[in-house]
Amino acid sequence: MAADPVVSVDAVSKVFATRAGPVHALRDVSFSVPRGHTLGLVGESGSGKSTIARLVLGLERPTTGAVRFESVDLSAAGRAARKRMRRRMQMVFQDPYSSLLPHLTVLSNVVEPLRLHGIGTVAQRRERATQMLVRVGIGAASAGFYPRQFSGGQQQRIAIARALVLEPEFLVCDEPTSSLDVSVQAQILGLLQGLQRDLGLTCLFVSHNLAVIERMATEVVVMCGGRVVESASTEELFAHPAHPYTRRLLAAVLPLEGDAPPLPADDWDPASLDDDEREVVRISPGHYLRA
Ligand code: ADP
Ligand code: MG
Repeated sequence: MAADPVVSVDAVSKVFATRAGPVHALRDVSFSVPRGHTLGLVGESGSGKSTIARLVLGLERPTTGAVRFESVDLSAAGRAARKRMRRRMQMVFQDPYSSLLPHLTVLSNVVEPLRLHGIGTVAQRRERATQMLVRVGIGAASAGFYPRQFSGGQQQRIAIARALVLEPEFLVCDEPTSSLDVSVQAQILGLLQGLQRDLGLTCLFVSHNLAVIERMATEVVVMCGGRVVESASTEELFAHPAHPYTRRLLAAVLPLEGDAPPLPADDWDPASLDDDEREVVRISPGHYLRA
């Protein structure tokens, strides 16, 4: 991938200890997100996407391997360094209501991160928060209402304002439109695209939906069972999907028509992923496959 990654994930594994025994949520995951790019992480539920998002945000530590933000190892960084990094990386989640503070007005919700980081005077914070709300499509006249008084799509706009008011460089979006109606989804994706362009954001964009990934991402990492099975630029991945699992995901969103080649449907056994002898091979420049 291009030089100057903002985030790099290097040979990361994550094992959760549970009563039922260890859960291997991630196995040997590596990728990096170049500055100004959006890396799309796609895979079915349970494939490890949210675990990666949490590791990248420093909310959880890898069992082995390293996650770096601008070449600083998040696990090795001290408290003060982590707080500084947290300001520069923000997140938008699937359920906007749970990321808002229900007892605070919308304006106070957006002011709060500025206050916590000691940015500006009271008047400056209110001014900046109001501007951000207007930018995401919430009029200043609505700023005194409470989160519950808004629709899901509007709540997600407010959550986006809250995430971006600190002017982060890096944004993690974990299924940000999965709980919204289809028409609202498109509006929120459009808003995120515009903001990303205007603010020069670097993004990690998580979705189980390849159609969403195709729209948002510049490169794609396909996850299955906690492993990366394929990665490539978005254009390359959609033109030449190589892994049977990727083709399955594609078939689920883009029904093949006419004389398209038949899918190698169910002759692929997901259990074959557990073969640790499989290697990651480069099948064309920038296109990698676990084969
Ligand atoms: P995704 O976001 O792709 O749906 P997750 O990263 O949430 O996948 O989960 C990957 C796997 O790790 C799943 O098997 C899940 O049950 C497990 N897992 C995630 N978080 C925990 C946890 N805190 N404790 C135990 N198992 C977990
Ligand atoms: Mg998830």
